[in-house]
Amino acid sequence: MVLSPDSPTPDQETASIAIIGGGIGGLALAYRLAQAGRRITVYERGDRLGGLATFLPYDGVRVDRFYHTILSSDMSMQTLIRETGVADRLHFTATRQGFYDGGKLYPFNTPVDFALFPPLNFFQRFRLGLQIIYAQLERDADRMDRQPVEDWLVRVSGRGVYQKVWKPLLRAKFDSETADVPATYIWSRLRRMMATRQGVTSKEMMCYLEGGYYTLIEALAAACERLGVDIRLRTAIDEIVIADDGAPAGRVTGLKIGDQVVPYDAVISTLQSPLLASLIPGAPAAVRELLSRQEYLGVLCPLLILKERLTPYYVLNITDDSIPFTAVVETTNLIDPEHVGGHHLVYLPKYLAPDSALLGWSDDQVRAEWMKHFRRMFPAYEEANIRDFLVQRARYVEPLRPIGTTQDIPPIRLPVAGLYISNSVQVYPDLNNGESITTLASRTAALVLEDLAGMPARQPERAREEVAL
Ligand SMILES: Cc1cc2nc3c(=O)[nH]c(=O)nc-3n(C[C@H](O)[C@H](O)[C@H](O)COP(=O)(O)OP(=O)(O)OC[C@H]3O[C@@H](n4cnc5c(N)ncnc54)[C@H](O)[C@@H]3O)c2cc1C
Repeated sequence: MVLSPDSPTPDQETASIAIIGGGIGGLALAYRLAQAGRRITVYERGDRLGGLATFLPYDGVRVDRFYHTILSSDMSMQTLIRETGVADRLHFTATRQGFYDGGKLYPFNTPVDFALFPPLNFFQRFRLGLQIIYAQLERDADRMDRQPVEDWLVRVSGRGVYQKVWKPLLRAKFDSETADVPATYIWSRLRRMMATRQGVTSKEMMCYLEGGYYTLIEALAAACERLGVDIRLRTAIDEIVIADDGAPAGRVTGLKIGDQVVPYDAVISTLQSPLLASLIPGAPAAVRELLSRQEYLGVLCPLLILKERLTPYYVLNITDDSIPFTAVVETTNLIDPEHVGGHHLVYLPKYLAPDSALLGWSDDQVRAEWMKHFRRMFPAYEEANIRDFLVQRARYVEPLRPIGTTQDIPPIRLPVAGLYISNSVQVYPDLNNGESITTLASRTAALVLEDLAGMPARQPERAREEVAL
């Protein structure tokens, strides 16, 4: 059936809302809006939900496509886990970090580790500790946003610590120059990581879900469906239809899917900003330009499936910049290998500009280059213990926010009436992760509900009762 923008909606009494994207952001939004009695359809172009946080089926089990941890301080995530009834599958584990420097592995977790960290001298270790304390005491995100990260780190930690500790950490996330990167980037990360510890002396606690991050995605989808949310897989949105109805920047009237136009009162996009820009030819040029100029990094992230443990660390940071990957993330030092078929999972990520040639490399090219360096780092690891090398890529992952450009962050309510955006660009100065994305989803849901206050909802109380678990 071909529907036109002014075809009647199936249920004229309640506003109909479309959410584009079935990742954790889209599902958390759908859940919060459906709890308030709103009529929601979620469109996901992939053949399964989860987006960046989805899984790969491997040898009869599900493994996270990209490494995903939930921190013990991630309250929005843990609330969703409880509400959707999977809290009994959440496990807390003390994790460890390390550094690979000059061919050796060093622990990097407790004040004792910092105090004994051989690549730094006594004075440098003291300054490193100062930087961590400073980050906890600093509360002014605007002040952090206005200074280059390198200036801030060198001023507090000194050049030596910067070269040995901070530069490798920055290299792990930024493909090229960091001159434009504000101090917020390390500041937010330090605050997030320290929040997983009670006091600086205690251990870092992280969590994982049995069945991977997808356990939450699946539970959220089930809770949404119980609330009447219509979830459509394998359905790519081709265009958000915008009519010039006298509203200053036009009004959303529906979605174009293939040769159909399905009418909606409101559309919320959870897509990365440049992807949304390409779906709104009817929006004012200024809106499309604002979305198109949001910058991101992509990631090339092979997953090694091993028969034996590689290191004792969840994350091993690498100071040697001749190695193409920037960390060794061994998630089975967090996840009990029994929950992933007895395999040991090691991710070897490299963050890259979306137009980097490396993102176009074949799997064989990536394997040859990555394994050359893997063998150099771990010469004693037996080849026979390597079961598989699975290459994963994503073009838009981590938003880049150049210094002093917060005014360029797109607002949740775009100028086009009925069009909303809820994506990782808007979580700044937080980083892109499940916690910040689901917190943003709650904020977006509140704004949409405020705007639709005049339009009747279904029976929210009944809907809430239905989902009580
Ligand atoms: C290597 C890596 C490590 C990470 N580690 C962690 C971690 O440890 N902890 C953590 O909390 N987070 C982590 N993250 C971040 C986390 O994955 C993201 O914050 C989260 O998945 C973002 O969810 P989202 O819904 O905003 O976006 P996405 O997951 O990108 O969802 C967007 C969805 O939209 C769909 N879509 C695109 N175009 C269309 C279209 N035209 N029509 C319909 N659908 C469309 C896509 O298929 C996708 O499913 C990591 C990410 C990566 C890449």
